[in-house]
Amino acid sequence: MPIYTAPTKDMQFLLHDVLKVTTSSVPGYSDLDPDFTNAILEEAGKISSEVLQPLNVIGDTEGCVLENGIVRTPSGFKAAFDQMKEGGWTGIDMPEQYGGQNMPYVIGTAISEMFSGSNQAFTMYQGLTHGAASAILAHGTDAQKDTYLPKMVSCDWTGTMNLTEPHCGTDLGLMRTKAEPQENGSYKISGQKIFISAGEHDMADNIIHLVLAKIPGGPDGIKGVSLFIVPKFLVKDDGTLGARNGVSVGNIEKKMGIHGNSTCVMNYDDATGYLLGEAHKGMRAMFTMMNEARLGVGMQGVSQAEAAYQNAVDYAKDRLQGRDVTGTKNPDGPADPLIVHPDIRRSLMDQKSFTEGGRAFLLWGASMIDAAHRNNDKDADGLVSLLTPVIKGFLTDEGYDMTVRAQQVFGGHGYIEEHGMSQFTRDARIAQIYEGANGVQALDLVGRKLAVDGGKHVMAFFEMVKTFCKENSSISEAFTTDFIEPLKSASKDLQAAGMYFMQNGVKNPNHALAGSYDFMHMFGHVCLGLMWAQMAKAAQSALDAGSSDAAFYETKLITGRYYMARRLPATALHLTRITSGADTVMALDAAHF
Ligand SMILES: Cc1cc2nc3c(=O)[nH]c(=O)nc-3n(C[C@H](O)[C@H](O)[C@H](O)COP(=O)(O)OP(=O)(O)OC[C@H]3O[C@@H](n4cnc5c(N)ncnc54)[C@H](O)[C@@H]3O)c2cc1C
Repeated sequence: MPIYTAPTKDMQFLLHDVLKVTTSSVPGYSDLDPDFTNAILEEAGKISSEVLQPLNVIGDTEGCVLENGIVRTPSGFKAAFDQMKEGGWTGIDMPEQYGGQNMPYVIGTAISEMFSGSNQAFTMYQGLTHGAASAILAHGTDAQKDTYLPKMVSCDWTGTMNLTEPHCGTDLGLMRTKAEPQENGSYKISGQKIFISAGEHDMADNIIHLVLAKIPGGPDGIKGVSLFIVPKFLVKDDGTLGARNGVSVGNIEKKMGIHGNSTCVMNYDDATGYLLGEAHKGMRAMFTMMNEARLGVGMQGVSQAEAAYQNAVDYAKDRLQGRDVTGTKNPDGPADPLIVHPDIRRSLMDQKSFTEGGRAFLLWGASMIDAAHRNNDKDADGLVSLLTPVIKGFLTDEGYDMTVRAQQVFGGHGYIEEHGMSQFTRDARIAQIYEGANGVQALDLVGRKLAVDGGKHVMAFFEMVKTFCKENSSISEAFTTDFIEPLKSASKDLQAAGMYFMQNGVKNPNHALAGSYDFMHMFGHVCLGLMWAQMAKAAQSALDAGSSDAAFYETKLITGRYYMARRLPATALHLTRITSGADTVMALDAAHF
């Protein structure tokens, strides 16, 4: 049976030593004193390990079952969902006006990581509801907000996002689902959506589907797409549930992972829908929540890596194989534990330095989203928008890779199901695909985000790195050698790649597009390098102040040095690939593949 312990202490370190949340001018941040955040994180951690984690393997083995048009979730899911609702965990960062607790998104993100790390498939029901509710909050009329939000914030009703159709996933302009206007102002929605997460299940009284569809006569392609609210049960004027709407589940998919989450084919047959936001501006409405939704998926990558890592460490300390070549560590036993071997260490250090660096990147991203939403900070909004494809693409690719490394620590015992290690890799894999496949994230970064506002935001990022290096170059010689110099060098590689795109991408866009994936990854490494430099600075200053928890801060410094020395230099390889251009990538005729 796998283990999971919520990384509460690490989150406290990030919130208070690194982000210093209480000193921020963002509304709500001054309330986040260490005792308060500790209490709430401890409580969420308890639910994660005591309620959600024990259901993770059950969800994986039982999966969801479709019977007579109803999807049955795995044993124990409904009771746990009710417990989450009763504890008020579903609306933690939603407005009080609709029954939420109005806490900053940075806290919501930390809690979501715990819930997802202990049970990703389960947590998605709530995550999708949060996404749908955020869309209604941003674009709904007052009446729509009053009708749907209180029930969605409490998760009495859950939500879904319906974009994908059989013939269109990335290219949503090909969409065929139709929305015919009716005299009473509503629409009749017809068409089929596939792969809809949480599309049907037995844990809520109603399901509020947000559906993208085209109003006949509108512009062609993506510009003709509008967003609609389509409830499973129509809601009467007094708020009670009325007739069943023309939406049904056609099938549930058999899939590689997240078995506890129902992935549904949804059929819309003249279903009643209500326009959300403006006609033909459906993609814009969806994009409003894009930063949050994609950060949430990046978080899934980190959460699965963390859970898998914890199990790998446990196993590496317990499993006896071989002897330490520098001297026996377990003379009374037949062999030494795996953790003595340098190659096992390399793997565990890769995992540890990624999960802690990735978590820092996520919480920094979430704090920028708070600044953008709560303080109307345009610079924070611009920077987090630039970094969103990096958060999503890099953290989910690396997160998946780390679950594989953790599985490898178990040897053959990781491949068989006894220790539950394959579930982490299977569950983590989807995060690289949905919410915009990672290749498309890289295109978004290079093809769109770099140039936004004349490149202002990417320049601000480079300036931020430069300023950090300049302001902290006198901490100590060791700090400069271990952290500042590697960060400067990696940032230089990233700038050189950007320059290559500027000089070569205009005459042949393939030169930019063929390097976009490498660019996304090198950007991710530089961000984690920056995070580690900031964490190391905070750790050093705690040690200098005589902290009673020296082991924690020393561990941070050691882990950070590893990242800077062994992972960050990946930027040089990425740069070499990028500057080789598109010629070798595109040379082969399609017939010869
Ligand atoms: C378990 C699961 C849950 C999901 N949940 C939801 C959900 O709740 N709601 C929803 O609407 N959808 C959902 N999806 C769908 C998911 O978002 C899509 O599968 C995804 O967006 C990719 O679309 P596609 O599968 O059609 O692939 P395609 O669009 O056919 O892409 C195939 C590959 O080609 C690449 N590609 C495409 N276009 C380009 C290009 N121009 N340049 C370079 N590369 C390109 C992509 O990166 C991808 O690797 C889910 C999918 C799964 C498997």
